[in-house]
Amino acid sequence: MKTIIEPFKIKSVEPIYFTSRAQRQQILETAGYNPFLIKAEGVIIDLLTDSGTSAMSAKQWAGIMDGDESYAGSRSFFRFEHTVKKLTGFDFIIPTHQGRAAEKILFSLLGGAGKYFVSNTFFDTTRANIEFTGAEAVDFLTLEGKTPALVAPFKGNIDIDALAYFIAEKGAENIPLCMLTVTNNSGGGQPVSMQNIRETSELCRRYGIPFFIDACRFAENAFFIKTREKGYENASIVSIVQELFSYADGCTMSAKKDALVNIGGFLALNDTHLAQQAKNMLIVTEGFPTYGGLAGRDLEAIAQGLEEVLDEEYLKYRIRSIEYLGEKIHHAGVPIMMPTGGHAVYLDAKAFLPHIPPHQFPGVALCNEIYLEGGVRGVEIGSLMFGKYDASGRHVAPPLELVRLAIPRRVYTQSHIDYVAEVIIETYRKKQHIKGYKIAYEAPLLRHFTALLVPL
Ligand SMILES: *Cc1c(COP(=O)(O)O)cnc(C)c1O
Repeated sequence: MKTIIEPFKIKSVEPIYFTSRAQRQQILETAGYNPFLIKAEGVIIDLLTDSGTSAMSAKQWAGIMDGDESYAGSRSFFRFEHTVKKLTGFDFIIPTHQGRAAEKILFSLLGGAGKYFVSNTFFDTTRANIEFTGAEAVDFLTLEGKTPALVAPFKGNIDIDALAYFIAEKGAENIPLCMLTVTNNSGGGQPVSMQNIRETSELCRRYGIPFFIDACRFAENAFFIKTREKGYENASIVSIVQELFSYADGCTMSAKKDALVNIGGFLALNDTHLAQQAKNMLIVTEGFPTYGGLAGRDLEAIAQGLEEVLDEEYLKYRIRSIEYLGEKIHHAGVPIMMPTGGHAVYLDAKAFLPHIPPHQFPGVALCNEIYLEGGVRGVEIGSLMFGKYDASGRHVAPPLELVRLAIPRRVYTQSHIDYVAEVIIETYRKKQHIKGYKIAYEAPLLRHFTALLVPL
């Protein structure tokens, strides 16, 4: 088989600013050893997130120029609405400034104390929007999905039996909505199978519980269905996407992921009454229903991006480029979450740095060392992000210590990824010299964004 090449040519470029190790040492110290506080110009390859970091195509940029900025009835809105309807089949399409704005509207309308929302895994903004209403967000990931080293095709699946048991226990009337996150971002970007989506839908319909999709990575998930699920080998990506949405009553979407744009999102649904309420709230919080939280040009670029993301050559390259990085470092012995998902490679910092205990933040230590080694920025998903204190002030660690290397869409080439692999492997060789950290400052909430640390 020949090399899978980037299915694009580069027409417009951005410089990468190079730094020496000594400069990076200085930059890291100034940033309080927190990668979130490093200025982007001090980063050589930025794998902090795949959200809003995509490269737009020439046609999307043309759409930016062509966007209709009319307040009401913009032509760009109708193109956007048509495209989203064609893919999802939902009746009402409501544009928002990003995914969490769609979540805010949906859960404000359905949430409240005493209610339970259920999912394979709620993404953190989704969970926050649910909890903000006083309701509870409950995850039912399968055991497979919780086992990092296990190789299985659909580790994003929801545990149907556990979900059925929960519905019977709590009562369907207390569960306003069930949501499947495809792919499962917080669970390693692992896909959900069509069978699991269908069965979840059937269960929800039996109980009259609305079933929604968190659709941020719907195209990446569809590609996994095509390549891993029996019966879909010869199906087109569009038909898989349409089938996937046909089981649901609505979706929320962050266009910053699979719509290949830098900002945007939407809420889409079938329920006429709920859609009316959502539009009323949209007008108060985002904007008039034919632009929501966006400019006409953004709607144009999203519509174009939603068409481009379905290109099978693109998806083949996309999924393969993640797998390629995972394969390279895994062969060199680096412990990673298996198999690689749709948008990122996750390093297992606990196995990488067994000599650093969780309360000394092995994920942060690994992130910082990778930055020092080659100017590559990842993000810690471990004790700094999710650690808590018990009543006696002792650190309570989360189950996993991970470093996520999220790959922006259409931004980096194979040689950039080869470079990243070299940096990781070199860091792995020097692992026994890496030391832990302690916290010098932390905010009471979401401390990982602003914490200042000191090396031990
Ligand atoms: C990014 C993301 C969101 C939130 O979208 P924003 O555009 O960042 O507000 C919701 N769910 C998932 C799975 C995501 O990855």
